[in-house]
Amino acid sequence: MEVYKFGGASVKDAGGIRNITNIITNCKKEGLLIVISAMGKITNRLEELTTAYLFEQDDVQQIFEEIKLFHFNIIQDLFPDSSHPIYDEIVNSFVEIDWLLEEEPTDAPDYIYDQIVSIGEIVSTKIIAAFLKDSGCPAIWLDARNFIHTDNSYKEGQVNWEKTGQDIQKNLVPMLERNIGVTQGFIGSTSENFTTTLGRDGSDYSAAIFCACLNASALTIWKDVPGVLNADPKWFDETERIPQLSYHDAIELAYYGATIIHPKTIKPIQNKNIPLYVRSFIQPEAEGTNITGLKNHLPVPSFIFKVNQALISIFPKDFSFIIEENLSDIFNLFHKHKVKINTMLNSAISFSVSFDYDAKKLDALIADLSQQFKVKYNTGLELVTIRYYNQQTIDRVTINKNILLEVKSRNTCQIVMRDKVAIE
Ligand code: ASP
Ligand code: MG
Repeated sequence: MEVYKFGGASVKDAGGIRNITNIITNCKKEGLLIVISAMGKITNRLEELTTAYLFEQDDVQQIFEEIKLFHFNIIQDLFPDSSHPIYDEIVNSFVEIDWLLEEEPTDAPDYIYDQIVSIGEIVSTKIIAAFLKDSGCPAIWLDARNFIHTDNSYKEGQVNWEKTGQDIQKNLVPMLERNIGVTQGFIGSTSENFTTTLGRDGSDYSAAIFCACLNASALTIWKDVPGVLNADPKWFDETERIPQLSYHDAIELAYYGATIIHPKTIKPIQNKNIPLYVRSFIQPEAEGTNITGLKNHLPVPSFIFKVNQALISIFPKDFSFIIEENLSDIFNLFHKHKVKINTMLNSAISFSVSFDYDAKKLDALIADLSQQFKVKYNTGLELVTIRYYNQQTIDRVTINKNILLEVKSRNTCQIVMRDKVAIE
């Protein structure tokens, strides 16, 4: 049993769907589960639709029509016969959203979000399953909500592993024996059968959950890059593909913000020692990156850039030491405001933290912290994380930068900085 995951970029148009169909038909015939995201940037559009509906804006219907049109254009390209059953199937899927949009938005916003946004994955998988079948593949469409069970934390459903594992073993394993299953990433359901989502970019995580519960022999994530690179080509001219990567390094890179794999993906497959292959859907024959239980370090230093960082420094008002009670109060406030810490450093009388800038969260956090502490902050900063750093790599990334914070552990160095010119 194997699992393939295809993200939105791989199925952004009819050409993309034809391409992944080739990959699938060339690779395997049965015993394969394919986990797919919404097409292209449709999840962003569905988020806009949700906001428009919640705030009762005038453009609700217009946004919804554009989303439908996007899908029907692709369907027309893939299925020239307009009597093909896929047309009705997709019309019916969208009708559920029509019904919801007709009601006043009185339910909880996060609940509404999940009911609307999940439609992107439902329709993408229906279209792709139908196209695979027409291309001679033994494909069956499977509703991920029958397998991935979560609590009712809408927008970030927490997986009920026991129930999910049981249903996958009992009901999914037999179905995959003779078929290729096509199912959705990103979505699950509550015990009352309401749809939940697992958090943005959660399809990788879905694929890992299926993999772990199926005891699959491998997970392949098909991307638009040739594998895991040691830096983002957006920031670096020279990047290198990393052919072999340990689970440990993969988790560290994903955690610090390398966007290649969702950070929650690694743990489920590491626990079962299932290899993860990252390969290019543009060059499917190329080797990619193999992530396994390997013990070796990365052969080259890796760089992860994050822009739009905020740095705050917290001082006790009375110049007392930053001791345990203060720290636990501070962490509680970060937790309360859902601010995820990227870097931190404490001295005797100060505690500095960097995190992704979000104006609302920052204001609320500072308001709370200021009741007990003196707070200083900066925004518009960059954070670079270097895994397997040395002085040369640090010098390379800090040219013309002012360093505000530098934290080093044995293998990882993190630097919060900004352009020198910015402060002159
Ligand atoms: N479609 C969802 C998103 O864009 C899930 C995913 O692509 O992984 O966030
Ligand atoms: Mg997506």
